[in-house]
Amino acid sequence: MSHALSYDGVVGIFDHLASGGSFNVSATLYTAYLECPQRALGRLQGFYGKPSIASFKGQLAHKIFATHFDEGEIRDEDFSHVCRVAAGTHFGGTMGELRMSKSGFDAIVLEIQALYDRFKALPFDGFRATEMEFDLDAGGGITVRGSMDAVFDSDDGVRIVDWKTGTHLSDKQSQLEFYAMVWKLLNDEIPATAEAMSVATGENVHLEPTEESVLATQADVGAMIEDLRRAMATGTDLERRAGPYCAWCPLLEDCAEGRKAIEIL
Ligand code: SF4
Repeated sequence: MSHALSYDGVVGIFDHLASGGSFNVSATLYTAYLECPQRALGRLQGFYGKPSIASFKGQLAHKIFATHFDEGEIRDEDFSHVCRVAAGTHFGGTMGELRMSKSGFDAIVLEIQALYDRFKALPFDGFRATEMEFDLDAGGGITVRGSMDAVFDSDDGVRIVDWKTGTHLSDKQSQLEFYAMVWKLLNDEIPATAEAMSVATGENVHLEPTEESVLATQADVGAMIEDLRRAMATGTDLERRAGPYCAWCPLLEDCAEGRKAIEIL
């Protein structure tokens, strides 16, 4: 039940920005920028992290969650086969890059099955759709693009839910703020909540957006776009802000700040 959310016009929220390079803005780019502006600039210059077992596991688990809604509950005896089909269909190239062995894949399937057992037990009241992709011309050469895991209806309004397969939720606030902004742009309504939930632990980060908070996010995203454009036009670097995320930053090898942080951490 994937739903592409698109808008066949120009929203124009970024028309007023100083003109510059056209690029896609996603929750991932916005989060990267807030953590370390130089890492976000690196993404626009084509430096993406290499695929990892952890990211592959998360992506495959999300396909399994979507299959649950599209085709119904997956039986235990079918689980491995369903994982193989999903992996082959969506992540064949990634598996090749990871040089994944059969035993390695089987171990991942077992981990995902344990996650799926927890996932099935979650309440799904008011479920509307899963994997809601958006692709929005936001004006000024900026496309806002990405995907929300799921949307639910509740008595208070729409709930946007992002399922996490890891246990680390402390850095999810900006992603939820971004989704709330997108929902407002596409539907002209403020979602009641935007939530990130760890399927592994049940822990939940919960945001209750307001008109003001959505406008503040829009302004922050606009400021990011201008900062990135300036750096690209002048060929300068942006601030490097080291943190635990340096461990998987594609710029780490040539980044003294990041290497120092990794040593300390
Ligand atoms: S290694 Fe760390 S400090 Fe350096 S660019 Fe990447 S995220 Fe920023």
